[in-house]
Amino acid sequence: MIAQNFKEIMKALPKATKLIAVSKQQPEERIEEALSFGQRVYGENRVQEAYQRWEKRRTQYGDDLELHLIGPLQSNKAAEAVALFDVIHTLDRPKVAKVLATEMQKQKRDLPCFIQVNIGEEDQKSGIMPADLHEFYEYCTKECSLNIIGLMCIPPIDEPAGLYFALLKKMAASLGVSSLSMGMSGDYEKAVALGATHIRVGSALFGARE
Ligand SMILES: *Cc1c(COP(=O)(O)O)cnc(C)c1O
Repeated sequence: MIAQNFKEIMKALPKATKLIAVSKQQPEERIEEALSFGQRVYGENRVQEAYQRWEKRRTQYGDDLELHLIGPLQSNKAAEAVALFDVIHTLDRPKVAKVLATEMQKQKRDLPCFIQVNIGEEDQKSGIMPADLHEFYEYCTKECSLNIIGLMCIPPIDEPAGLYFALLKKMAASLGVSSLSMGMSGDYEKAVALGATHIRVGSALFGARE
């Protein structure tokens, strides 16, 4: 079933678009199946859970494996996040930028990062507010010397996502960054049509989370 889902999703993707298989809360056998047909790029939203699932496999698969942190990062988890992950999608406040920069220097690891934008300006969502984005980007790149490759968003659930994807793309262009992490199981096709370079797909690939 996973192989079939994978094929269908890949068919809809331009070559340059990266499929991040979101493995959070998925049973082990499904992860094994995805690994067995060659999927090597995975997303997790909690640092602790990611360690349980990937720490051993990290050794086993080496640099072949690419792990993306797609959930909120607390500054006290920054050291562990930098040690395990390859890409951070959820940079959303100065404090986190600062500790990430310090940790990367300490561990001599230079992880590409996305800034998460609270694109619908929702109280309950994380992400930097659009009005603060420019200043935050300057802070991340100039003060912290972080490698910001693009922007990430999760649009409001009960509205058509297209408008928000288009808006994120505009914001990225105005900053001069080129990567766009947008699109999940329900809306990745729309996201791809609007220029997503990274899609984060969980349930459409693995089935419902357990
Ligand atoms: C869980 C999660 C996803 C995947 O969600 P699906 O709807 O299962 O594809 C994508 N992005 C983020 C940030 C998530 O937390």
